[in-house]
Formats: sequence, structure tokens, C-alpha cells
Amino acid sequence: MLRAIGMRMALVGALCVAIVSGCDQKTTGTPPVSATHPGGPGGEPSINSPAEQPTEPAGGTLSSPPAVEVPAKEVNGKPYVALRSLARQVGGTVTHDAVEGTIEAVIAGYRFSWIVGTPVLARDGVFLPGDFTPVVQGHEIWVPMAFVRDGLRWSDQPAAGGHVRLTTSGDATTETGTDTARPVLARMRASDIAAYLKGLDVPIRAAHLSSRDSHLPGAPRAYRSGVHEGIDWYGGYTGVTITRSTPVVAAADGVVVRADRTYREMTKTERDRLLAECRRLGHTPAYILDRLRGRTVWVQHDSGLLTRYAHLSGVADGIDVGVRVKRGQVLGYVGNSGTSSGVAGTDNDLHLHLDILVYGEPFWQYLKPEEIRAVLEAVFSPAVR
Ligand SMILES: [Zn+2]
Repeated sequence: MLRAIGMRMALVGALCVAIVSGCDQKTTGTPPVSATHPGGPGGEPSINSPAEQPTEPAGGTLSSPPAVEVPAKEVNGKPYVALRSLARQVGGTVTHDAVEGTIEAVIAGYRFSWIVGTPVLARDGVFLPGDFTPVVQGHEIWVPMAFVRDGLRWSDQPAAGGHVRLTTSGDATTETGTDTARPVLARMRASDIAAYLKGLDVPIRAAHLSSRDSHLPGAPRAYRSGVHEGIDWYGGYTGVTITRSTPVVAAADGVVVRADRTYREMTKTERDRLLAECRRLGHTPAYILDRLRGRTVWVQHDSGLLTRYAHLSGVADGIDVGVRVKRGQVLGYVGNSGTSSGVAGTDNDLHLHLDILVYGEPFWQYLKPEEIRAVLEAVFSPAVR
């Protein structure tokens, strides 16, 4: 079992957030060259707009108002609200990094993170089940109403003039992941991290950790001017044979927070354009890395752990966002989606790529290469424990 970490913290006064001034919105660079969402980030020159200037809540006292009115509209038939307008009214901040394709917001004491072009939303490093796909249009960032309901846990009702009235009452105290027991990776020894990950099982039955260091986190990935962030499971090197029908199983109990059932493979032109952008920048932006992972399933576990299963050829029946899964349950099947071989339509390069995040951060980022292998051997290769 994963070590249970208490996740209890009274968040006093959801609206009484710190008034953060001088939001460091990044305005350099070019917009993402590709987006899966129609009307998404690629279309409009939104990134040179001035930084958001948070303002005091109207009325001056922090105990009121209990409600704000925010512009709303439908996007692809679903209700969306204006994130910058919302944040401005409650003293929050919004930062859109157009180069990375990421959006960060601090609202009502929570820190929210999006990757543009994807449905995922992290609240204080814990991913929420749902479709939170943001849409950048001009200076504004539109987010699904699910962000209000599930992210902020506020209620909404229609208001005049294309607005929606968001009520914050009744939910100023909540549970969140910002507990004092939360692990701080930068201060953890390799043995602490190994103990923290110990409850994870191998994602392919009977496999062991790859014998090749190039399959582990931290290995260079020159083709995208980046570094490998996860663990590759190829046939042979992991002691098992891998085909397109090899099941990928949940490493621990958890909740599915993303399942790419309707994944559409990139064209070679699309992929080449993304890789050219990586070379131009000298690193791999977050939104491009997301595309290069191909078809994915993401599972949020207790203790702030997230496991992400990439390059899948398919998602298993019944694996949908919000579904609870058990350790060992089949999530999907090994593939090569998102890779050059997948784009070319061949069966080459079949492998599972597994990421392990701790409250949104790669578990290995402060470890030395030899420590990364030692941690992963301890977790995934019983023979050397
Ligand atoms: Zn990989």
C-alpha cells in the first residue's frame, strides 16, 4: 500500500487570498505552433498582452462579497468562464507561459496548473478528474465551468449580460493537498524516495526495470533537445516480450484523471514541426512533450503520486476519467503512439513509457543518475531489493 499522507488543511476564507501583485506573466517567445483544441492557443496573438494586474475585491472587506459575476460563454457546446476576469475579481493571479504552453493560476488559496491543448488540471499538484481544457482567445483565457465546480468548488448560476454568478459561500473550508506532511523532494534522500514509491507495482506483468540507462529518467533525448522524464519498458530489456496486445496495468489503486480514448495520431508534418520548435528553443516545452507522449492514461493515487502511461495503442474498456482502478487492473495496451514509428504507422519501437510524479513534480529531479537507478530497482526489481 502506498504510504498514507494526511491531506488535511483547513483553508480559511477561500476568497481571502493573498493579494499578489506584479504577476510575472511571461510575454516572450512565440505562441504554441499546434493545439488539439479548436480555437485553442495557436490562433490568436494573445501572448503580448499586458500582465494581469490583480485588484482588491470590490467592496474592500475580505469577508464579502460572497459572489462575483464573470463573463461566460459556450465553447464547443460546453459552458466556459473567463479565468482572468474571475481571478481579477477575487485577488488571484493568472500566468500564461505561451512558450511552454502552460497556465498557472492562484485563486482562493489554491494553485492550479493547466497544459494548453490538454484536458488535465492540477490543484496544488493533485490532478482532478474531468475535462478542464483551456482556450486562449485574445488576452482572455476561457476555462470550462468544471473548473469552478470541481476546482474551486464554487456554485454558479446564470446572470445577465452573458455573465455567470459564482457563489463562494458554504465552501470556504475544504481539504486540499497543501498539508504539512507533504514530501519535499528537494530535501529527500534517495532511500526516502524509494520508500515513498515502494507501493508501486510494475506496469507490465512480470517485467523488471530495464537494464539500459537510456530507458531511465534523466537520459538525454537529442531528437527533441530534451531529457527523458520517465521509465521505458521495452521487450527484452525488461525480461518480457512486448507486443501491441501486451496489457499495461495500474501501478497502484487510484482514480483515472485522463484517458485518451479519442486520440488521433499526428501526421509526420505535425510532429516534425513540433520537433523543430524544440530545436529552436533548445528544450522540450510542456505542451509538446504532451503531444510526444501519444495516447496516454493518467492515474492519480493517494500520497500525491501520479502515474502516467504513454505511447499506448489503446485504452482498455471501462477506463474513463473518474473511474477508480485497482492495482494491477488493465488500463490499456502497449503501443508506439506519438513516436516517429507510430506516426509512420509501423510496429517498430513498441514500448511503454511510465512517468511518476509527486505532487506534479518528477520524482527523480534532484537525484543523481546512479540514485535514480537504485530507487527504481528497489521499487520495480524485487531480485535486487
Ligand atoms: Zn520514454
